[in-house]
Amino acid sequence: MNSDELVEKLHSIDREYRHLERAAAALQWDQETYLPPRGVAERAEQLAVLEGIAHERLTAGETGSLLAALGSVSENPRGYESLSALNRDFLRVMRRRFDKAVKLPVEFVSAAARAEGLSQAAWVQARRNNDFAAFLPHLQTMIDFARKKAEYWGFGSGNSGGDSDGGGSGQSLYDGLLDIYEPGMGAVEISALFAALRERLTKLLKQIASRALPDTSFLTQTFAVEQQAAFNQRLMDYIGFDRERGRLDTSAHPFTTTLGSDDIRITTRYFPANLLSGLFSVIHETGHALYEMGFPPELRGSCLADGASMALHESQSRFWENVIGRSRPFLSGIFPMLCDCFPQLAPVSADSFYRAVNAVRPSLIRVDADELSYSLHIILRFELEQQLISGELAPEKLPAIWREKTKEYFGLESETDADGVLQDIHWSMGSFGYFPSYALGNLYGLQITGKLKEDIPELDGLVAAGQFERLYTWLRDTVYCWGCRLEPAELLYKITGEKLQAGPFLNYIEGKYSELYGL
Ligand code: ZN
Repeated sequence: MNSDELVEKLHSIDREYRHLERAAAALQWDQETYLPPRGVAERAEQLAVLEGIAHERLTAGETGSLLAALGSVSENPRGYESLSALNRDFLRVMRRRFDKAVKLPVEFVSAAARAEGLSQAAWVQARRNNDFAAFLPHLQTMIDFARKKAEYWGFGSGNSGGDSDGGGSGQSLYDGLLDIYEPGMGAVEISALFAALRERLTKLLKQIASRALPDTSFLTQTFAVEQQAAFNQRLMDYIGFDRERGRLDTSAHPFTTTLGSDDIRITTRYFPANLLSGLFSVIHETGHALYEMGFPPELRGSCLADGASMALHESQSRFWENVIGRSRPFLSGIFPMLCDCFPQLAPVSADSFYRAVNAVRPSLIRVDADELSYSLHIILRFELEQQLISGELAPEKLPAIWREKTKEYFGLESETDADGVLQDIHWSMGSFGYFPSYALGNLYGLQITGKLKEDIPELDGLVAAGQFERLYTWLRDTVYCWGCRLEPAELLYKITGEKLQAGPFLNYIEGKYSELYGL
């Protein structure tokens, strides 16, 4: 077989794998939205079977021998260079996925999946009962599995997990976990970026604490859920979400899932006394969906039709949610539509609405945090999970340290563990290394925005007028078109000519909030 035929065979494995994965995603979406409670147990079995088949399809001997054959082609540049650029990128991504999957023994994968199920169920109970001790043994198990996984991938020394060279890679176990979400970025680089964030954000937060808060009382009136849902449908149309290619439903936690190139689902949740929660979740998830909808036709149906990384995906959702959604031009544009749906807002001015939406009020809960303090919630988790994985911090000490750091960063006393260390689902699922993506997403987003504003200086005017066509086209031609053909650092360099920095995000935040609070 020549190299094109070998690659074509790999494409067909990739396609089958994706079909299986998306069938599983459809079952998962159904579980989060419409599944009656008694269907949960059998659904877990169905998902386990389907995911097992998908894993097998990817790691079967055939994939390995095709990659090995293509490996020898790549050592013979003439054969390799005959492949298109697209196929070379495809090979790189397939190789990475195969290597990650095949290094984990099947028994380990299923033992981890089972333990995760138990751990998540224990976390739900523990959070409800404010009982950290009941969750502790599961947390320890999740840490052990995460460490083991990174070891299988060749990271860390197996003892301290610190900056060892014993694992062959010279990177820590925690670096191995970060690599799942943000390829190419280790803890040292992230620590440097976060140190800059911590210093300038805590300083700004302290300055704002001495200022009067804007009036937010009109945001806590009752907003009927049906009206909120109707408004959000209008809002999606306004932004440009193609409802022929996706839909909005409700779930306990908002998310986006891709069931096919033309089937991207988003969800939100509604609270009658909180208009903003459902609304900004819809804008955030629409940002994720636009990225997924914007991959070019040549990537369709291949593993290249994916975000460059978790943080790049977050950069797109946070760009829409915060940079656009919480901006003065956007809010003044949608305000008449809001008053039309919610007559109780009619006495409020568009400017007061903008100020209320951007009120800075440190919160114990990450998902309720304002745009300014949000990144500090992430830094707190990053610091702790790094120490949990290295073994420096014993998990039983978590609640106390969580309280200390909450006081230090936000000046707040957390009274319960339910509102403290138990608030997030991530660690209960073993997803250590995931949290940094949220804050890194802010950094990517603002750095990309710098280039966007250079290319479209009249952006604010277009946003105020509700004209998103040129913005969407720019994002499609600059960011979405690459799928995951480039690593995140390469993509950012291609767009901005620079590596990731904290400056553009911090300048944006300081500029916006100094104006709002008259600093
Ligand atoms: Zn998101």
